[in-house]
Amino acid sequence: MVSKQIEARGIRDHGVLEAMRKVPRHLFVGEALQDQAYGDFPLPIGEGQTISQPYIVAEMTQALELTKEDRVLEIGTGSGYQTAILAELAYRVYTIERLRTLFIKARKILDELQYHNVVAKCSDGTLGWPEESPFDAIIVTAGSPEVPEVFVEQLDVGGRLVIPVGNQYSQSLLKIVRREDGAYKTDLGGCRFVKLIGEHGWKEE
Ligand code: SAH
Repeated sequence: MVSKQIEARGIRDHGVLEAMRKVPRHLFVGEALQDQAYGDFPLPIGEGQTISQPYIVAEMTQALELTKEDRVLEIGTGSGYQTAILAELAYRVYTIERLRTLFIKARKILDELQYHNVVAKCSDGTLGWPEESPFDAIIVTAGSPEVPEVFVEQLDVGGRLVIPVGNQYSQSLLKIVRREDGAYKTDLGGCRFVKLIGEHGWKEE
């Protein structure tokens, strides 16, 4: 998976490649899908949600430029796979999932794999996690109609935000860096995520 899908497409960050070699992705999907877990595609994880394609996990993680001192906020725990990758690279990961069944499953597997540096909660992640802010990095793994201002506000100076922004069918993966004098945005390319649903995202159907 790592050499054919990730290194071959230009991901060079050693920490990211190492984390993706280490974390057992098959444990984050249901038993019936375990033999497909290392394929080049997203997979269903229940509740109409998906575990992201391995390459997109690598691309987003590399863009966060994590160090072992960083505190990172993740919105959209889902399977917990991206959470585990972040936990390998950062000091502490704060992760929020809105759907209780997914939250419980992810918490269980992260505990079994002994990721003691993960703090998880079940709530609306579009509000961020003000009590624990500011963060060195924020990653949003669901598509948003725009960049919620709260995420930029909860970034430290020098902090990085990675978020898919667009309509419900396609989004641009944006990287926003907060500096003393403002927020600087780069477009990393097209992507497709499930909807970010909440107060500062899409409204519930
Ligand atoms: N990183 C995950 C991606 C899961 S899909 C993985 O690779 O497994 C995106 C997840 O975001 C879904 O589980 C969905 O329920 C969750 N989500 C959507 N809106 C949210 C919100 N406002 N707060 C927290 N989680 C949200």
